[in-house]
Amino acid sequence: IFITIEGGEGSGKTTLIQRLSHVLQQKGWDVMTTREPGGIPIAEQIRTVILDPAHTVMDARTEALLYAASRRQHLVEKVLPALEQGVIVICDRFVDSSLAYQGHARGLGMDAVWEINRFAIQDIMPELTLFLDVSPEVGLSRINAAADREINRLDLERHSFHERVREGYRMLLKRFPERIVSVNADRLPDDVFEEALQVLMDRLNR
Ligand code: C5P
Ligand code: MG
Repeated sequence: IFITIEGGEGSGKTTLIQRLSHVLQQKGWDVMTTREPGGIPIAEQIRTVILDPAHTVMDARTEALLYAASRRQHLVEKVLPALEQGVIVICDRFVDSSLAYQGHARGLGMDAVWEINRFAIQDIMPELTLFLDVSPEVGLSRINAAADREINRLDLERHSFHERVREGYRMLLKRFPERIVSVNADRLPDDVFEEALQVLMDRLNR
């Protein structure tokens, strides 16, 4: 079964995935965790190119295509072989990230981003997606944690970008209510974990 975890920065995806995988393995399930963009050498290299802060000229469509390319390689090289072995694959981000970030927040349009991703993933979609819904305030404060910086223009820009990403995810939630389950991620990590585990176990025992 293919499961993805989605959400904005500071939503706690990475920690949650580690905990979920640990508990599922203790229960005897075969689990593989991975992340996007990345997870395998080709995709990690593409990630480095996309996230390099020196690449200030990167065009939004170029960025969307690179995400789709890294997704394609990661899917065929790592995710699909594991699914064929019957492994539970838990992936940090998948196509919903592109739809929310590049499609909605960066303004390319979800339909356009969906088109290139359809080419990349063919019809392979997760059976369950946990959307960690974090408010920009909480998410950014977790990232900035110790820093305790003054609010500057950059923070305000980041804040409004986060708000758009969240809006994008909420649109997806409405569009795919069967697949995507929203979890309030403003709460303590333990509470988020308990709820996420419950959702996951319900789905695995179906
Ligand atoms: O998942 P993680 O937090 O490691 O993502 C790394 C960075 O990539 C984040 O800053 C996120 O905002 C960005 N990202 C993006 N578009 C995507 C996926 C991730 O801008 N489709
Ligand atoms: Mg993370």
